[in-house]
Parts: sequence; structure tokens; C-alpha cells
Amino acid sequence: QAKDAGRSNYRVFTEDMLLKANNKLMIEQDIGAAIEERQLSLFLQPIVGLPDAKLKGFEALIRWFHPQRGLIMPGDFIPNIENSEAIIQVGNYVLEEGGAMLSRLRKQGWNDLYLAVNLSAKHYMDPGLIPLVQHILAKYELPPQSLLLEVTEESVIEQVDLAMSSMKSLKQLGVRIAIDDFGTGYSSLSYLKQLPFDVLKIDRCFTSEVLNESVDSHIVSTVIDLAHNLGRTVVAEGIEVQEQADCLAEMGCELAQGYLYSKPLDEDKIFQILNRIETSRVWPAEQIPQLG
Ligand code: C2E
Ligand code: MG
Ligand code: MG
Ligand code: MG
Repeated sequence: QAKDAGRSNYRVFTEDMLLKANNKLMIEQDIGAAIEERQLSLFLQPIVGLPDAKLKGFEALIRWFHPQRGLIMPGDFIPNIENSEAIIQVGNYVLEEGGAMLSRLRKQGWNDLYLAVNLSAKHYMDPGLIPLVQHILAKYELPPQSLLLEVTEESVIEQVDLAMSSMKSLKQLGVRIAIDDFGTGYSSLSYLKQLPFDVLKIDRCFTSEVLNESVDSHIVSTVIDLAHNLGRTVVAEGIEVQEQADCLAEMGCELAQGYLYSKPLDEDKIFQILNRIETSRVWPAEQIPQLG
């Protein structure tokens, strides 16, 4: 019986792998067309100051509206292309499109907001990255500090030496860098000290625990202090309830992002809300109907 179970597990496993391989192939094939046919779009999620919830910026999060498969979330296609050339194409698209969005915000008078875009660690090894960033800053007349490039802790640590030099060049341009999903990778303190980042984003799996008297909540407050001692700014990701925001504010965390404020929304919806909060600049903490 154990043998049977073993066999059937094995079969399920290989079928699953085949499916994944097919999926990966399909995604790699379709992504070029997706870019050309503008099936990719950036949704924006607000990032607010603590404790007052004043709007500070947005994170651009990609969505793929596939003509046959419908909406595909980034978690279902980014990991599939992370090691292929396609991730560079996507990143270039996101930089160009993000730059255009930021410039539209600025033209509406929102000229002290920043935009965070996600780039794969592989992209930091691409010799085209620095010239492209320079080009976009010039083309859209963006102050370099209004652009924040996010890279996940896990991916940057895998290739830290290679990523380091282009991170330094980006910093010289005045562009800011954030370490994303902090706490889920395994960076040592010595890397943390060396990496030229400005912002530390604490992953949701830690911030979701702050209300419990848990080890994780002590980790969060210790990480906030550590980041501050290194002169960095901290964003708490995945804030879903007011009590979490209060607790993080108490710990000295300066920025927050999460469903409490808003899910990622398309640009039209963002502008509708911006019109409503023009004077207060306080992002409304309410559940706003969204498009996924
Ligand atoms: P991330 O950069 O850490 O982005 C945060 C993710 O958490 C987003 O998922 C966001 O919708 C979700 N989120 C935000 N607040 C909350 C909350 O309060 N509760 C919960 N449960 N979730 C929340 P999304 O948009 O599905 O993106 C997933 C990941 O895909 C991103 O994680 C990022 O690593 C990657 N990604 C997204 N856009 C891009 C992109 O343009 N380029 C690259 N290379 N990766 C991207
Ligand atoms: Mg991110
Ligand atoms: Mg994150
Ligand atoms: Mg993430």
C-alpha cells in the first residue's frame, strides 16, 4: 500500500511538473506579444505615512490581461520568467510605463509623490538598466528621488556582488532603492550594512503578527530600530487593520501599505480618489471596491 501511495504521489508530481513546464513555455511565448499589444498594465497601491495616513507615494504592481486566459496576477507569471530574458523586457516596460504614470501624477499637481517599481534582481545585472533609467528620468522630467526601485531581499542576496555595483550607480543618479519582502530571505547583517538601499519593506508575514505577543512582533520592532540605526526608512507591508497601523506607528515605522488603505487600483480609480483628498492628502481608510 505504501508502494502504491508512493507511485501515485510520483505520478501526480510529474504531471504537475509537466503542467508547470508547459505554463512556463506558454508564458515565455506570450509575453512578447503581451508587451506589444499592451496587455500588461500597472495598478497602483498607495503608501502612506504613519500615523496620519498622508499619501506619500504608490507602488506599481503589474497585471496581465491575457486575451484567452483573462487576468493573470504577477505571482502566476513573474516567477516563471524570472530567469529568462523576458524578465528584462517586462522590467523595461514597467520602468517606461511607471515613468509615464508618475509624470501624469506630477502634471496633476501631485509632484511630491514617489513611485516604487519592482525589478527582478537579474535586471540589476543588465547593462541597459542604468541608461534606461537615465533616459526615463530625462524624458519625463522626473526628480531621481521620486523613483524607488524595489528588489526582493531573497533575490538580491543570491547575487549580491553583481547587483551591488549597479545599485551603487543608481544611487549616484539619485534614484532610491528598496529591499522588498524583508525577512523572507536570509541576508546577514553584514550584507545589510553593505547594500546601498534607502528603504526597507518588512514583509507581510511579519507585520501580520504585530498584534500578537509573538516573537515576530519583537522581530519587527528590532528590525525597525536596526534600519533606523543604518539611516534607512521602513515601510510595513500588508497592513490590513487599523490596530496594526497603530502598533507599527508606535514602534516608529514611518510608512505603511496594505488593504487597510487600498488594494492596488487602476489609474482612473486612483485619480478619482486623489481628487477627493486634494486638500487633506489623507488616504481614506476604507474598503474601496476594486478590480483585482
Ligand atoms: P510585492 O512587491 O511584495 O507587492 C506586494 C503584494 O502584496 C502585491 O501583490 C499586493 O497586492 C499585495 N498586498 C498589498 N497589501 C496587502 C494586504 O494588506 N494584504 C494582502 N494579503 N496582500 C497585500 P501582487 O500585486 O499580486 O504582486 C505580487 C508580487 O509580484 C509582488 O510582491 C512583486 O514581488 C511581484 N511583482 C508585481 N509587479 C511586478 C513587476 O512589475 N515586476 C516584477 N519583477 N515583479 C512584480
Ligand atoms: Mg514590491
Ligand atoms: Mg513585498
Ligand atoms: Mg512580495
